[in-house]
Amino acid sequence: MIPEFNTTLRLSRDQYFLDVGYKNLIGLHHTAGGSAVSTFYWWQNYDQRRVATAYIVERDGTIFEIFNPSYWAFHLGLAGTGGAHDYRSIGIELASEGGLIARGSRFYAFDLVSPATEYTGKVFDYGKRWRNSYRFFAGYTEEQMNAAVELVNYLCIDFAVPRRTPAAHTDYIPEAREYRGIIGHHHVRGDKTDLHPGFAWDTLIRRCDLDVTDFEGTSYLAKRSKKSPSNDLVMIRNNRRKISIRKSKTDRLI
Ligand SMILES: [Zn+2]
Repeated sequence: MIPEFNTTLRLSRDQYFLDVGYKNLIGLHHTAGGSAVSTFYWWQNYDQRRVATAYIVERDGTIFEIFNPSYWAFHLGLAGTGGAHDYRSIGIELASEGGLIARGSRFYAFDLVSPATEYTGKVFDYGKRWRNSYRFFAGYTEEQMNAAVELVNYLCIDFAVPRRTPAAHTDYIPEAREYRGIIGHHHVRGDKTDLHPGFAWDTLIRRCDLDVTDFEGTSYLAKRSKKSPSNDLVMIRNNRRKISIRKSKTDRLI
């Protein structure tokens, strides 16, 4: 099923790169910002570096397609790679306040304790500080999660992105930048806290039928049960991947 895309926010063509690449990676982020509109507005008007993602998913589940995902912009920020991994990936931002400051029973966004920045939505509590940063984060909404599932499913079919994700949901290792599949920004950057550990990876894995792998892409399922019938499942998945390659992308190159 093709998700419903809102195309009312479109970056102008000088804000991203018009090269069409072979995509084998999806990178998930959160904005640590206000609305999807405000993030778009910032990229469109103030960012000179061509930093953007093809999609922003608003808290109510609206999927904004900011530019054609066959093209690319910088979103992973991997020094020394010349954008190689941005080129082969599709970025998705979840609109979210990100890390929160706790004061008594109240929470505040954007590192600012003020009436205007009080956060009253669902809070994710990691129980301790994550990556020497925040302990509390704005929770991703159920509507966002449903939209993310739909979008990832769609992109895996449309671009034949491998249906797999690292089992270590909150780890960072430099080698993760070579990964092919679905990752969070935090997997490839030790200084990033998006996605935060409240992201429902299990839901994404279940509803997008993802393999769970190490950072080299080897399936844990295959590792655990080399001779068991579940190995067939991996083969079925692999075959499904092969037949899901999109026939033609020409209709998207607009
Ligand atoms: Zn990010």
